[in-house]
Amino acid sequence: MHVAWRFLLRLLPMHASPPQHDRHAIKPRILTGDTPTHTGLHLGHWVGSLENRVRLQDEFDCYFLIANVHAFTTLADKPEQIRANTLGIVKDWIAVGMDPERSTFVLQSEVPAIAELTFLFAMLLPFNKVMRNPTLKTEIDSKGLGDTYSFGFPMYAVGQCADILVFRPELVPVGEDQEAHIEMCRDVAMKFNQMYCGVGNRVPQEGHVAAGGVFPIPKAKIGRVARLAGLDGVNKMSKSLGNAIFLYDSAKDVQKKINKITVVAEESTGLVAQSHVLLQYCDAFLSRERAEAIRADYAEGKNVMHGHIKAELGEAINALLEPMRARREALETAEGEARVLEIIRSGIKRANVVAEETLAMSKRSMKLDFAERRISY
Ligand code: AMP
Repeated sequence: MHVAWRFLLRLLPMHASPPQHDRHAIKPRILTGDTPTHTGLHLGHWVGSLENRVRLQDEFDCYFLIANVHAFTTLADKPEQIRANTLGIVKDWIAVGMDPERSTFVLQSEVPAIAELTFLFAMLLPFNKVMRNPTLKTEIDSKGLGDTYSFGFPMYAVGQCADILVFRPELVPVGEDQEAHIEMCRDVAMKFNQMYCGVGNRVPQEGHVAAGGVFPIPKAKIGRVARLAGLDGVNKMSKSLGNAIFLYDSAKDVQKKINKITVVAEESTGLVAQSHVLLQYCDAFLSRERAEAIRADYAEGKNVMHGHIKAELGEAINALLEPMRARREALETAEGEARVLEIIRSGIKRANVVAEETLAMSKRSMKLDFAERRISY
């Protein structure tokens, strides 16, 4: 509540001018993003979400969120690191081709409406339902959080509903691990529209806005690879599990990491399991014909040379990453850093135009519209 009140007291004129965005007003919106718990992004992010973001920038009005407040759920004692990671993620975004002119980069901590909606949405979600969220459970296990995690940790799942809904998007491009979160977000949107906007229980999801609801019911758009395995072949590729190929890894490091993948034959058949990480990488990063040929060789019991496949994969992944590395490197200068900060600041202004509009609509529906407010950045 304190955060919300602090911002409510900033009743100053809004200087945000969104000339870029007027052009996009009629396009459906996308919201998605990343949490800055590491200095950069990895191949799992690329195939799970980044690739779709780059591809959909013209068709949609895109909002890409850096969930820097949520990074505090596990790194509360490392604010400098979160700040450095935030800048690193924006550099990676630009490096992969996300365009801050066509799309809006959103810094979560500077969009006060998100914090306010989080609190309001928390009333619409049963506590036990949040705690049963499978993505949260997996995270608690894989990060070894035991029962020592903060109150804020499960709150982030509610916060993510606000991150998304504050931009009233139609589509959320994410990896498979986020599906449970998107489902929760859809629940919140439907409940809000029904409880406060008079949308009937029988109105189909796609008809909520036409029936007076504030929120469209967003759909998840899962990436080309729903869940890219990590180099350990067991867990999903993850920033914190030491099993990732980062987009900024050097060509040498990429090849070294791929060479370390161990290929285990299935005892019963002598063949490599279909789900094996090396085969998944072939599907993800080689041409379809080549990946199919390799699968066929395995199926026919041919003596497949893993060393050759690893070299081929290294080459293909490095060809994908090389231009990204070059663009990221160009940002690792004083001017690059200044540009990143400028992009963040301009995104904050643009994001708050939409976010404030959504908050005002929501408060009106909840009979909380006692005074108009304008915030200034
Ligand atoms: P996170 O880094 O956990 O905030 O994830 C950012 C986005 O990348 C989310 O949409 C995730 O679903 C997606 N993502 C992260 N890791 C993977 C992976 N190994 N495979 C596919 N998608 C992923």
